[in-house]
Amino acid sequence: MTNVVDAAVVTLAQRLARPELLAMTPYQSARRIGGTGDVWLNANESPFANTLAADSTVAYNRYPEFQPTQLINNYSRYAKVATDQLLASRGADEAIELLIRTFCVPGQDSITICTPTYGMYAISAATCNVAVNTVPLMADWQLDPHLINKLDGSKMVFICNPNNPTGSTLTPDQLEPIVSALSEQCLVVVDEAYIEFSPHLTMASLIEKYDNLVILRTLSKAFALAGLRCGFMLANSGIIDLVKKVIAPYPVPAPVGDIAGQSLSIAGVEKMTTQVAELNQLGAQFSDAVSQLSGVSEVYHSGANFVLVRFEDDRWFKKLGEAGVVVRNQSSVKTLENCLRFSIGSSSEMERLISVLINISIAIK
Ligand code: PMP
Repeated sequence: MTNVVDAAVVTLAQRLARPELLAMTPYQSARRIGGTGDVWLNANESPFANTLAADSTVAYNRYPEFQPTQLINNYSRYAKVATDQLLASRGADEAIELLIRTFCVPGQDSITICTPTYGMYAISAATCNVAVNTVPLMADWQLDPHLINKLDGSKMVFICNPNNPTGSTLTPDQLEPIVSALSEQCLVVVDEAYIEFSPHLTMASLIEKYDNLVILRTLSKAFALAGLRCGFMLANSGIIDLVKKVIAPYPVPAPVGDIAGQSLSIAGVEKMTTQVAELNQLGAQFSDAVSQLSGVSEVYHSGANFVLVRFEDDRWFKKLGEAGVVVRNQSSVKTLENCLRFSIGSSSEMERLISVLINISIAIK
């Protein structure tokens, strides 16, 4: 009887949908989770609201260029890769999905992820009916030394560097042997969304040498353009040309191409570098301050614009919220019990955050 009732309430959409999507939970982005408060440190956004405007003389009745020339030229100069080794996309998120759609056969192939890491690799795979093979990071957030033997035939392994949400970093010397060992069998996708905060760690110069190396970048973090939705894939032209078969026909809206192109001018890159230096300094000061508080059990070293902190109990997230400070709760992630991730905001936001944390530390003693 129950089954009959259940069947009756199944909607047409549910009956027609791909079965693997029905039970799936969508990515819980900071914006979707929401929250209330006046200090927003939950999405690893930049606190700098740079003023850039799109060219008002552009005729919007026409489709934009497939890959806007100024944007690609400027990013190629900035990242020191050739223009045919680059693809601009709707954020690095779209690049993740494009890679999976281009290389993984649904219901057959898998990707490998090294957890805890950015959640969209697994979600994009799930929406494409591609399996996810998980190789957890070690206790110090370093890669499993046997990673290459644990790939289980995956088509690609995602390595986030600096890693979100741990902030941990890997050097090119650690990564290159992995790329080299897998050169005939598997793509190594290094997600460098936060690389501007640790620029010496980039693998970009190695795409010339390794056909299986793919790098993801974004303008959402250091370039302070999260609202624009613009990211890049860097890889050899063979990979880029294949992905160009899969991407939608006009992937970069005209105002996005225009504003993103301006932000990558020589002056734009200089401005980004100055802002990154300031954020890195604020991050170091924050890590110092928070490590002195009672109730804090570990402050993880970060190479990005956020810091992961482990507390002795789970009371801090709620108390921060009550004080108007919105951060990212990582407690539900395996191995991140009692961990909160703090994005580095402006100096006044960080002062406010530190004073709220001091008050909580005293109050819960
Ligand atoms: N990779 C990582 C590691 C991220 O943290 C994010 C953003 N949260 C992305 C990719 C997606 O960036 P974008 O805004 O360019 O889609």
